[in-house]
Amino acid sequence: MAYNIPITKTQNPKPLPQDETKLGFGRIFTDHMFVWDWDKEKGWHDPRIEPFGPIVLHPASTVLHYGAEIFEGLKAYRRIDGTIAMFRPQENFKRMNRSAERMGLPEFDGELALEGLTKLVDLDSEWIPHGEGTSLYIRPFMIGDDEHLGVHAVSHARFYIILSPSGSYYAGGLAPVKIMIESHDVRAVRGGTGEAKCGGNYAASTRAGEKAMEKGFAQVLWLDGVEQKYIEEVGAMNIMFKIAGKIVTPALTGSILPGITRKSILEYLRAHGVDAEERRISVDELAKAMEDGTLEEAWGCGTAAVVSPVGLLSYNGKEYEIAGGKIGETTQMLYDAITGIQWGKRPDEFGWIYKVK
Ligand SMILES: *Cc1c(COP(=O)(O)O)cnc(C)c1O
Repeated sequence: MAYNIPITKTQNPKPLPQDETKLGFGRIFTDHMFVWDWDKEKGWHDPRIEPFGPIVLHPASTVLHYGAEIFEGLKAYRRIDGTIAMFRPQENFKRMNRSAERMGLPEFDGELALEGLTKLVDLDSEWIPHGEGTSLYIRPFMIGDDEHLGVHAVSHARFYIILSPSGSYYAGGLAPVKIMIESHDVRAVRGGTGEAKCGGNYAASTRAGEKAMEKGFAQVLWLDGVEQKYIEEVGAMNIMFKIAGKIVTPALTGSILPGITRKSILEYLRAHGVDAEERRISVDELAKAMEDGTLEEAWGCGTAAVVSPVGLLSYNGKEYEIAGGKIGETTQMLYDAITGIQWGKRPDEFGWIYKVK
């Protein structure tokens, strides 16, 4: 913790949101943001905290034309003992560096980023909501901002972190969702950008999600982009199943985003003596397990929801109810375990909690 990260405080602080039940997600932002510049000659320089505000970009900026953008998502929590903490933030910056490498953006010092983030959360900590399940959503992102239209690796980039007080994902309680197996669009291909957390992946996948919503589903279950045969992810979450008593999740084959929630659940299960397999899962295997009733549970996992139970899967026009449309036992157990560690209701047995103050 020896970096020089100057803070310029806002002259116009905004009023804090009055009604925490109306926060929603990602609509309200705090008073400050972290900014860091990079260019080929100087490398990363001038990390700083500034008043939150609009970004000025040259109209030819690389990000606007060729999608040079990566991001992360994590949360800061007001825990039951009154401390403020984040969940495994080091993992987010490690992953962001891997995304940077894939997308032709510059890698950075994750420790400096973490110190900038910690200072920022500390400075704006009064914005962290108090209600159960609420949190301060943290969005680090990086863009390439070269000011010309040639296609090339960037020589100018900027790194930002913005903060958004957000409501509980489960304001109405942990509820199972209906999911449609997507057989037309694909999210990612091996050798592509599926394992990078980049905006372009989202631009390419919203169409399928919107179409599924029109049909009454919450999201799509993605199949692999090469054979359209293997299960990959659900919406923007990783997916796990319990088939005949065994927990399985798709192996990270290059087109799947390596989720930190996924990783944490696998580590938790294994530390508690529960076997969890990472392997390829074909849609045929899943269809068979739905037909013969051995698919006992299914859930998505990611930072926003932590764990999201799947109550129904639709495939080839047929609908299969899972766990009687209710929350399965393992799904609930994992939700309680991970959120328990995050909120400080359970001991931090793996050292996952990073204290801000
Ligand atoms: C961010 C993300 C996830 C979940 O990752 P976490 O680190 O657990 O939040 C899964 N899939 C996609 C496509 C994502 O963008």
